[in-house]
Amino acid sequence: MKPNYIAEPFRIKSVEPLKMLTREEREAKIKAAHYNVFGLNSQDVYIDCLTDSGTNAMSVNQWAGVMLGDESYAGATSYQHVIESATEIFGFPYIQPVHQGRAAEKVLMPLLLEGKKYAIANMFFDTTRGHAVMAGGIPVDCVVPEALDTSLRLPFKGNMDCKKLVELIKEYGKENIGVIIMTITNNSAGGQPVSVANIREASKIAHDNGIPFMIDAARYAENAYFIKQREEEFKNASIKDIVTECFKHADCFTMSAKKDAIVNMGGLLGTRDKALFEKIKQRCISFEGFVTYGGMSGRDLEALAIGLKEGIDEDFLRYRIGQLEYMAARLDEAGIAYQTPVGGHAIFVDAKKMLPHIPWYQYPAQALAVELYKEAGIRGCDIGSYMLDRDPVTHKEQESKFEFTRLCIARRVYTRAHLDIIVDALIELKKSASKIKGLKIIEEAPVLRHFTAKLEQL
Ligand SMILES: *Cc1c(COP(=O)(O)O)cnc(C)c1O
Repeated sequence: MKPNYIAEPFRIKSVEPLKMLTREEREAKIKAAHYNVFGLNSQDVYIDCLTDSGTNAMSVNQWAGVMLGDESYAGATSYQHVIESATEIFGFPYIQPVHQGRAAEKVLMPLLLEGKKYAIANMFFDTTRGHAVMAGGIPVDCVVPEALDTSLRLPFKGNMDCKKLVELIKEYGKENIGVIIMTITNNSAGGQPVSVANIREASKIAHDNGIPFMIDAARYAENAYFIKQREEEFKNASIKDIVTECFKHADCFTMSAKKDAIVNMGGLLGTRDKALFEKIKQRCISFEGFVTYGGMSGRDLEALAIGLKEGIDEDFLRYRIGQLEYMAARLDEAGIAYQTPVGGHAIFVDAKKMLPHIPWYQYPAQALAVELYKEAGIRGCDIGSYMLDRDPVTHKEQESKFEFTRLCIARRVYTRAHLDIIVDALIELKKSASKIKGLKIIEEAPVLRHFTAKLEQL
């Protein structure tokens, strides 16, 4: 595909200046950060692609909403606005705001896994996996095998492997499974979408076996846009109708609003079960705060009520996904491998293919992230063997299925020129790829080491 950029459906009213360091300065900064991108100060980063979570630029309407935010402890109008917006979009009778996605998981997961052993998902996001484990469950991934081949161009590589799901239910026993989860889009597989057909099938399997079906809904809008583009039945449907159709099949959902709801902080939890909702409210009051604010300030609730609707605007989504598709088309021209077709929120560069001389235990994706920072002040991160902790029993290094350098694109933040700088930097690095050296860990924590580990260049 020829690179085509879909122009911004907005103009810029407020700007945030960026510092531009020299290459020598960046080399010193990353060395001082022990070659760990989490150790860099944000003011030393030119283009920050670390995450698309909470890094969104809010609209004038959202900022106006911030001033209108009702900070009352109980019964605030901003709470009512969130419930109105969320009910209209997701069609759930019981909705609870919480301060972010993992808070929803913390409240809900122990309720679903009480007396159960397993939770099955197309693919768990890391905090969702963590909360399943903390609730005493065993999380099991059940994604279609095509997701693991980064060069395959298929429309819905985020789907659940429904045949395997049926087998797993037989193997584990339906009475032992607390929940079946569909993550849309499938973040861990590279932001790959899930089809409505797959949601319907997985939901039917869950319900035939009496197991609750949950949606992990962080990227509900991007997923709906892909459905409109790629699933024949929905080519003329509105984004809102597609979202409603997806959620119709779920018994409950958790959502990080820091992604598609275009806010900097927030989350939601929804259920159709009145008795479960009573328990959710009790746990929410203990962990998050009273039900009408759920760990959020009134101004954040107001921005969320507006952002939920802006997130499903089709002109916005066309531009948003268009940014990723533009970068992907340029990478194709340059012969740089990434998880294809490109997903909704990030480019997952296949570092294994770009740096074949660096073995997995010298962390090629982390090495590429370090070089991107040195080259152009771009901060991406490793989603590979460096991020994967040691085996908890044997303490041996583990090889990841993927070696991705993930470059997230924040919503409404960067221009086409910024995106070109990212692609140009990758093209430059590819030219001298064989000179890039691997890394060695010299200090690490036993869990979630990638946030704080210290490394050395080999
Ligand atoms: C971000 C994310 C979460 C966790 O949400 P936080 O707001 O970061 O706590 C859960 N699931 C998915 C798919 C996510 O992308």
